Amino acid sequence: MKYKLIKLILMIFIIFSSFLIYDVYTKDTNILNTSMVDNILIWLITLSLLVYYIRKKHNPELVASSITTNKKSEEELRKKNKPNVSFNDVAGLDEVKEEMQEIIDFINNPTRFQKMGAKIPSGILFHGPPGTGKTLLAKALAGETNSNFLYSSGSEFVEKYVGVGAKRIRALFEKAKKDSPTIIFIDEIDAIGCKRNLDSNNEKDQTLNQLLVELDGFNKDSIVVVVGATNRLDLLDEALTRPGRFDRHIYIGNPNIKAREDIFKVHVKNKPIDISVNLEELSRKTHGFSGAQLANIANEAAILAVRKNKRKIDINDFNSAIERVVAGLEVKNPTVLNKEKEIVAHHEAGHAIVGKLLKSDMIQKISIIPRGQALGYVLKFPDDERYLLTEKELYNKIIVLLAGRAAEKVIFNEITTGAENDLKKATELATNIVCNYGMSSLGNMAINENYIRYYITSINNEVSNIIESCYTKALNVIEENIDFLKDVARYLIDNETMSINELNEIFEKNHQLTKTVN
Ligand code: ATP
Repeated sequence: MKYKLIKLILMIFIIFSSFLIYDVYTKDTNILNTSMVDNILIWLITLSLLVYYIRKKHNPELVASSITTNKKSEEELRKKNKPNVSFNDVAGLDEVKEEMQEIIDFINNPTRFQKMGAKIPSGILFHGPPGTGKTLLAKALAGETNSNFLYSSGSEFVEKYVGVGAKRIRALFEKAKKDSPTIIFIDEIDAIGCKRNLDSNNEKDQTLNQLLVELDGFNKDSIVVVVGATNRLDLLDEALTRPGRFDRHIYIGNPNIKAREDIFKVHVKNKPIDISVNLEELSRKTHGFSGAQLANIANEAAILAVRKNKRKIDINDFNSAIERVVAGLEVKNPTVLNKEKEIVAHHEAGHAIVGKLLKSDMIQKISIIPRGQALGYVLKFPDDERYLLTEKELYNKIIVLLAGRAAEKVIFNEITTGAENDLKKATELATNIVCNYGMSSLGNMAINENYIRYYITSINNEVSNIIESCYTKALNVIEENIDFLKDVARYLIDNETMSINELNEIFEKNHQLTKTVN
């Protein structure tokens, strides 16, 4: 409001000055003949406009949007900054909540700890894949302790003008201390906290230095806890992660089967759910999904139910929502040529039958209805929670990935661009086998980024050998089970989708002809 008033006054001032200048020049075009007062006025107006323009251009907002306040809105903001989130809203992550209990006790009862000479931990660092609930947990920490919650993102402090980022950091901590107890949450902290090196940029270094200074000094007489979050812990500068600063590193990974069920429970709490929905089954189907993806599935299912004018969300809505999240939006009225449809059907049938025969992941559904950028897809989920994979299982995964292309080659003696994504995944997996898992003839070693250039030729050879041997294996399995492949492809051309039960039926029929693999 105050800002708007200043703008209005300025506008009036500019209009008035324009009239004045016009008036002066039209009376007498020679500026030297104008009166002294007029001259002073003209110069004063021109100079103040010039100063205003330069200041606006070269002095960007010094305080980040999340921490800008004026007096009137301060009270509103303060209310807003107290999140209405508790640990009950965070499903799973029991060990993390337990770890944070200590910090909650400290904030809620600081004197008990201070009497013992204990200092509150300066910073907590959440790291892990995206969408796993890092922000939610930080908010819950503020909710549990009735603290203020100041959200900021590392990128807010990245500026090209030296010193601006550092000023914003100072302003953020000043506000936090003023409103103590406060939880400062800095998302994507790697944007300001990444390792410094010789060609580091001056602005970024100043910002990081300011953050280090604040972390060292802020807990003297106020309660402020800084929670940083990053997807890349390895990028952070050691000065930031050393004891006394962000010294509590908490990994937050994708939820396990139990946690997934709990997350679903949280997100269907206020939704009318049909009895056909079994959350345990849904959590089994969503292995590897993040909490954000699960929340998205519950929301998508609700939207689908509304679209179909249903009174309750049923299992079909959830299944469609999972497919939408995994494979993308279904293409309405696809214009796939018949010839292409045949290729796609054999390609997907190739993945499905080799996956089934090698007992790789559990297949749920095969489809040749285009979704997103894919013309077809095989929906599969691991049948149990796995943390370790054997060498054979990894190779089998590559064989299944290459089975689509192998089927095209065997049936049409031609290969297409349809395998682009499969090849990308297969190469990535083969590179991991060589560089990270030590499962190639290069031996039991991990080759990190610093050494990769010394081994580049050997790595390329090893990756190529793995891919080619897996492709040969895929070709063999397809050739040995060609009738099974053709039957599945025919079914797909006629019906467009196939469930696991239908795949099993065709498999049983072909069983006598199907040769044992391995
Ligand atoms: P990023 O690293 O991308 O910033 P994040 O780890 O901070 O992601 P959040 O923003 O906390 O992830 O989570 C996104 C959404 O996912 C939450 O708002 C919530 O709806 C849901 N969610 C994630 N994890 C959980 C969980 N454990 N319990 C309940 N909901 C969750």
